[in-house]
Amino acid sequence: MSIVHATALCKNYPAGDQTLTAIQSVDFDIPEGAFVSFVGPSGSGKSTLLNMIGCLDQPTSGELIVAQTDTGRLNREQAAQFRGETIGFIFQDFNLIPVLNVYENIEYPLLMVHNWPKPERQERVQALMKAVGIHEQANKYPSQLSGGQKQRVAIARALASKPKLVLADEPTANLDHATAYRIIELMKQMRDEFGTTFIFSTHDSKIMNAAETLFILEDGKLRQEHQTSPAGKIDSNALQQEEKSL
Ligand code: ADP
Ligand code: MG
Repeated sequence: MSIVHATALCKNYPAGDQTLTAIQSVDFDIPEGAFVSFVGPSGSGKSTLLNMIGCLDQPTSGELIVAQTDTGRLNREQAAQFRGETIGFIFQDFNLIPVLNVYENIEYPLLMVHNWPKPERQERVQALMKAVGIHEQANKYPSQLSGGQKQRVAIARALASKPKLVLADEPTANLDHATAYRIIELMKQMRDEFGTTFIFSTHDSKIMNAAETLFILEDGKLRQEHQTSPAGKIDSNALQQEEKSL
């Protein structure tokens, strides 16, 4: 089954008295449980696409079905509710809350958005901290964490409410390569464990190799490429080289 289905999807932005076409009538289909990446240089429309899928922005025209919901039919309030129930976000600059520790950052959406009872929250947060390997830092604050550790917390937080779909806009942009590989691997492991669909964007050729399917953005158009040997098969020699050079 599809989790995202786009038909003739367009996005224009006003630019002075002209119109800038960011996305020019693209069609694509992402099956549930997929691990895919939008790829393209800066300004190619990656964020625009992810924002539309995440119902943070509306298409100019075309149809966008996310988790069997026609997003074009949602008003602002419905879109916010849909987002809270269905979608987890991992942000490029982590967006952790500085006054909350690791445990509390991961717990936050369960408390504020989903109102889970305490024992269930505790169980979920503990399980996620273990899954992403951050449980030993449970009481630390974001300022005491490395970039890779912050991103682990961000992944755990995005997964907290068991969303069907996780969107990550250039999640490794602020990380060194070795850490970036590990974060992408961790996302894939979470996909395998929880069945969550992951859609991320990157312009980093090394990171994009980890995706099963690439959607390559060029001049507002989209080209799809299936990768025959996506990572886990990340080139471990390259990784060791990276680690040596750190
Ligand atoms: P990417 O994420 O691949 O760097 P974006 O989706 O951010 O690309 O941008 C695609 C194009 O749309 C760019 O030309 C950008 O300048 C333009 N754009 C993005 N957001 C807006 C906006 N809110 N208003 C006007 N133009 C925008
Ligand atoms: Mg972007």
